[in-house]
Amino acid sequence: MTVQLSDTLTPHQSVTYFFDRAADCIGLDDEMRDVLRGSYRELSVQVPVRMDDGRLMVFNGYRVQHNGARGPYKGGIRYHPEADIDEVRALAALMTWKTAIADLPFGGAKGGVQCETYLMSESEKQRLTRRFTGMIAYILGVNRDIPAPDMNTNAQTMAWMMDEFGKRYGHNPACVTGKPVELGGSLGREAATGRGVVFTAIEHAKRTGVPLEGARVAIQGFGNVGSWTARLIAETGARVVALSDIRGGIYNEKGIDVEAAWTQQTLTGSIVDLEGCDKLSNDELLLLDVDWLIPAALGGVIDSRNAANIKARVIVEAANHPVTPVADAALGDAGVTIVPDIIANAGGVTVSYFEWTQNIQQFRWEEEQVNEQLQKVMRKAYADVASYAENKSLSLREAAFAIAVQRVARAANLRGYV
Ligand code: NAD
Repeated sequence: MTVQLSDTLTPHQSVTYFFDRAADCIGLDDEMRDVLRGSYRELSVQVPVRMDDGRLMVFNGYRVQHNGARGPYKGGIRYHPEADIDEVRALAALMTWKTAIADLPFGGAKGGVQCETYLMSESEKQRLTRRFTGMIAYILGVNRDIPAPDMNTNAQTMAWMMDEFGKRYGHNPACVTGKPVELGGSLGREAATGRGVVFTAIEHAKRTGVPLEGARVAIQGFGNVGSWTARLIAETGARVVALSDIRGGIYNEKGIDVEAAWTQQTLTGSIVDLEGCDKLSNDELLLLDVDWLIPAALGGVIDSRNAANIKARVIVEAANHPVTPVADAALGDAGVTIVPDIIANAGGVTVSYFEWTQNIQQFRWEEEQVNEQLQKVMRKAYADVASYAENKSLSLREAAFAIAVQRVARAANLRGYV
């Protein structure tokens, strides 16, 4: 049974809703639908960790491998209280469609541990990461499944994962991506998702004539993705008027000094007290009268409650699934263009692919080469989707899912899955 539009869809039902629409659009047969709708493998583990004060805390951990028809499973590891099995399942499926749109030789996977990292010390995070890695290691591997960072994980997390994996199977840096450069990480990986978001926005601006130069931009989230997006979009001449993090938002009609926000974040752990800016809430940021809105934090932030009040004309999804299906439909009807997550934030996994190939070849690319190749991949992904959307009168999301599902179905067919 296909998922029907509703206000109460879970993250996985939301992603499946878009999949079902794409399957209808391309006339996918029922057997292939059954294969591509669900996950190939879902591993749930109990992760007991001895905390610094001697208490034992037991966390829930997951690794979901959605589909591997096009190559090894690939996807980040998220540490967040809401990273339950449904959320991880949804994010794993999105990775399959994202790697297909970017035409990378990977499948899709995602991992998560339900925990509050801001309450944990570095040594607690290290023990958690090592324990979790040990528990899922037997389904990982350079040619099986390659993790990367996501929310509340970073290059340090990947270094611990690589080390723990190496204890069991021998040192092999290609077993994770997003590592520190000193351990075989790729130059340009840290900025890659944000850089890809901005490359996509530039392509969209060129194709539609909606200018970036002088445009007012609001960005929710100032972590890895949001901060690099802000920095790089400011370089295009756009005016970043609002930024936020988990503690709240800041607003300056004349444009925020993004480098000063970066310094503020480094010094204080948050941007909220940046001088010369007004304060606003994360909810208010989404409703600002801006030209471009870029959610770069959590999923589901634009839903049936606030969609009608969104004033931006273009939304670029730097976060994964920030717009629910009901909101997606309402915004489409209202003439708001959405550049979907599976194109817009594919820059991270693209440079992860470059890192993986560099590690396998035991060779390092210059950062310039990384950024040039990233731009090529993002340009092609956007152009493929925009042309398909124009030819078939579809939204960019409908077109992106249709192309991705077609590519994965073709690979699954060639392999004889069905
Ligand atoms: P991060 O942990 O580095 O940063 C998250 C940011 O969001 C922080 O600024 C945090 O303060 C803010 N935040 C957290 N909860 C919030 C809330 N309730 N309201 C407002 N802001 C909140 O994470 P990230 O790696 O930048 O990931 C952000 C999004 O981008 C996620 O949806 C992730 O799945 C997606 N993404 C990340 C990558 C990557 O390479 N890191 C790649 C593709 C997609």
